[in-house]
Amino acid sequence: MSESTPAPSVTGQDEVVDLCRELIRIDTSNYGDHSGPGERAAAEYVAEKLAEVGLEPKIIESHQGRASTVARIEGEDSSRPALLIHGHTDVVPANADDWTHHPFSGEIADGCVWGRGAVDMKDMDAMTLAVVRDRLRSGRRPPRDIVLAFLADEEAGGIYGARHLVDNHRHLFDGVTEAIGEVGGFSFTVNENLRLYLIETAQKGMHWMRLTVEGTAGHGSMTNNDNAITELCEAVARLGRHKFPVRLTKTVRSFLDELSDALGVELDPEDMDATLAKLGGIAKIIGATLRNTAAPTMLGAGYKVNVIPGQATAHVDGRFLPGFEDEFLADLDRILGPRVRREDVHADKALETGFDGDLVEAMQTALKAEDPIARAVPYCLSGGTDAKSFDDLGIRCFGFAPLKLPPELDFAGMFHGVDERVPVDGLKFGVRVLDRFIDNC
Ligand SMILES: [Zn+2]
Repeated sequence: MSESTPAPSVTGQDEVVDLCRELIRIDTSNYGDHSGPGERAAAEYVAEKLAEVGLEPKIIESHQGRASTVARIEGEDSSRPALLIHGHTDVVPANADDWTHHPFSGEIADGCVWGRGAVDMKDMDAMTLAVVRDRLRSGRRPPRDIVLAFLADEEAGGIYGARHLVDNHRHLFDGVTEAIGEVGGFSFTVNENLRLYLIETAQKGMHWMRLTVEGTAGHGSMTNNDNAITELCEAVARLGRHKFPVRLTKTVRSFLDELSDALGVELDPEDMDATLAKLGGIAKIIGATLRNTAAPTMLGAGYKVNVIPGQATAHVDGRFLPGFEDEFLADLDRILGPRVRREDVHADKALETGFDGDLVEAMQTALKAEDPIARAVPYCLSGGTDAKSFDDLGIRCFGFAPLKLPPELDFAGMFHGVDERVPVDGLKFGVRVLDRFIDNC
């Protein structure tokens, strides 16, 4: 703020940092059951901020304390299809002892707002609130209707948030054809002339599986050629070591083409280890989008050292690329073999849309206006988001939560990581980009 100008009215850029800090201070840890504090306090906070600028937000509680907030902004042309901007208000838990600054303090240090949710995703929640409040205070209606959704439970699959709304309150999304949400729009600085902004246009699907082997129970001292633990462990080890083949989806191919152009080098999809080494922090994000993956994550069997149990189980986090689910399941069965029973404990689809159209144009234009060396590129997310639920309504979903990041920040490592933090300048940049994006949406 310049000292020479008379007290200007509060802008989105002024507010965004405080909104983000206040949201972080509301503990919304999601333990995957109802043992956490829930999202009710955050839902009420958001509703109050929206009501202050004349909206009529609805709070929808799916289970005691598990609440989401939805509001609709009337645009200049309500006959056009509407845009959804969605964010989740829950966060994964944090162990305060591991952190430099308390994870629910929202402290500002070293130019960053620190705390659980700083990048996943109270930053975008705050940016959305800041932009909407600024626009409505100054009477700048969006060109079309915008539905805002601040959702519970994303970190546990959205059952009590997005999934609940889509299944039970779908009228809230009437007329919505496109959406923006998390895990996209962040920057990767290539050099002083080029900064890529990764727009999420695809995401992997998931099969979270339980594997079971039944064997013959018996005394640990006796001969037993049908030991469930031995059989299961061999199968799990085969799976854990298996490298699924590289499969280039439309999105990943287009990302690699952009990257190859940006870096001025030929990229060999069959030798991606060398390519990934050039990518620094985002290698973690991109590496897992080249192939299906299956990571063993839990093991269980037995109850006494001299008793061979009749059963052994393992859990595996399986992720498949858009278009490669059938191949994934066939590969799993082949690798695991006939002794292993495989059941899903949770499954969800993969998503993929094109990197084209007016909305994508609006993202590119807004980024370029705020960062002259910006280039927006499509990418595939290895995880999943609430977009999977909204896709059921035929909504075309993008990950676009714009952030300009300092090159040295390990952004991928911030997600669910210790010392999660977001640069203050990044938040303000995001507000400016989102505001321009809404102008043209
Ligand atoms: Zn998230």
